[in-house]
Amino acid sequence: MASPRARTPLPEQVEELLTDGGPLPIVVGGDPVLRCAAEPFDGQLEPELLARFVQAMRLTMHAAPGVGLAAPRVGVGLRIAVVEDPAPVPEEVRVARGRVPLPFRVLVNPSYEAVGTARAAFYEGCLSVPGWQAVVARHAEVRLRALDEHGRAVDEVFSGWPARIVQHETDHLGGTLYLDRAELRSLSSNDAMANRWTQPTPAEAARALGFELP
Ligand code: ZN
Repeated sequence: MASPRARTPLPEQVEELLTDGGPLPIVVGGDPVLRCAAEPFDGQLEPELLARFVQAMRLTMHAAPGVGLAAPRVGVGLRIAVVEDPAPVPEEVRVARGRVPLPFRVLVNPSYEAVGTARAAFYEGCLSVPGWQAVVARHAEVRLRALDEHGRAVDEVFSGWPARIVQHETDHLGGTLYLDRAELRSLSSNDAMANRWTQPTPAEAARALGFELP
């Protein structure tokens, strides 16, 4: 039986999600919405509804807490994501991972391409795959093209942790989860992460668990 959600027009689906006014429920692995290419945004939501939806996504991202949230992760199949990272990390982590603050922004119809060939491998997790983290080698630098929430063009190069965040969230809009790109031998529970793999880089984990770093 098809889910009622699949037949509900997008504006009504979003209105229904926003009824409670609190953080939106996060969809987890196994829901087809996480595996479908989201529809490009083309005015399916009126500006006022889009603004309220974006605000609810930001609230949900903060509550999680997370540093990015793509619309499919709250069950809405539109190419819209929000990102924001205050980067409250120790200096050695900031230096090793390039985890610098990323101000709040809305990405509409984003796409990215690699700048150069350098790759960076670090542990990351996803609230749609709760309880686990794994190392993903990603482009160290990417050029991101998108629109903002007002329809203005964004064309910007990201590096360090912000590059990882925009790749992770843009991938969600194409139905790709970080596990699809991960070193599966690095897979670690949140407990193992807290107890063993808090180092700024995954070098020690790579030796102990037997996976390659770029
Ligand atoms: Zn994710």
